[in-house]
Amino acid sequence: MRRLCVHPLPLILGLGLAGAGLALAAGLIRIPDRWNPFAPPVIADAPNLLTGWKIARLKDAPDQCLTVLKTGPLSFTPVPDRQTAETCGFENAVRVGNAGDPRFSSGFTASCPLMVAWSIFERHVLQPAARRHFASRVTRIDHLGTYACRPVRGGSTPSQHATANAIDIAGMVLADGTRISLTHDWSGDDARKRAFLRDLRDGACEVFRGVLGPDYNAAHRDHFHLDMGRWTICR
Ligand SMILES: [Zn+2]
Repeated sequence: MRRLCVHPLPLILGLGLAGAGLALAAGLIRIPDRWNPFAPPVIADAPNLLTGWKIARLKDAPDQCLTVLKTGPLSFTPVPDRQTAETCGFENAVRVGNAGDPRFSSGFTASCPLMVAWSIFERHVLQPAARRHFASRVTRIDHLGTYACRPVRGGSTPSQHATANAIDIAGMVLADGTRISLTHDWSGDDARKRAFLRDLRDGACEVFRGVLGPDYNAAHRDHFHLDMGRWTICR
């Protein structure tokens, strides 16, 4: 009779990790909140490997999500959950106006976790990149919308836009009036603007789950699609 020989090390490691996870969840082990996967994200903290996971967990904690979002720069009001079709609608969403700093080109409705991700992106990626490349700051964000009851382009599965869990960014304006747009500047003549936009794309991938831009396909030549869906993609 053959005996199955199993090396004990993976089993011991697995049990050890599971035990550590349970102890962490139960509050028996203290580690800094930044490195505690069960602690909510903090907008003032620079993103790390756990940031995406922490933001995703807010999907099931609406009150905690609003508490986190209030510590950021956005002015917003919570909106009631709404289902508009079988695969469309939103829960745990907020209405963001066009009077913030930076201000959006128009108001929109978006999921709370998406706006927490945006707030972290704005503070730790967008504004530092504007300082680095232009010694300036972004004062206006031009967007192409968040909520839209539709499938992914060229497919049949519902888009993250169908649940207000995605935002499309077309460009931005700096404090001195300089305009930067994906359409003109991703492959334009201005090297600073090209480098700035690539830094935004790469930095967005540290915060959002889905990041699609002009390198992905022609449908994204004029915007960054940023979402907090289930799948991670960075193109
Ligand atoms: Zn999109």
